[in-house]
Amino acid sequence: MTKKSCDDAITKIYGYLDGEISPMKRVMVRLHLRRCSGCGNAFSFERRLQIVIRQRCQEEVPASVMAKLREIVADEQNP
Ligand SMILES: [Zn+2]
Repeated sequence: MTKKSCDDAITKIYGYLDGEISPMKRVMVRLHLRRCSGCGNAFSFERRLQIVIRQRCQEEVPASVMAKLREIVADEQNP
């Protein structure tokens, strides 16, 4: 996997989770996640996080908190 394809996938993951990207792009993201364990792990972390946030916080999550969480994910991608 090239760094570029991982960057693309990670960028699209947020759209994927938010349901903002086209079905075509969703397939591309899924294919990348299956082939790339680094991005696959980041994605499952994000998805778990979203489920937890939905279950525990009915209120909106502050942008600063989401930014911090995304930083943590980014750090895991680039140790
Ligand atoms: Zn990747």
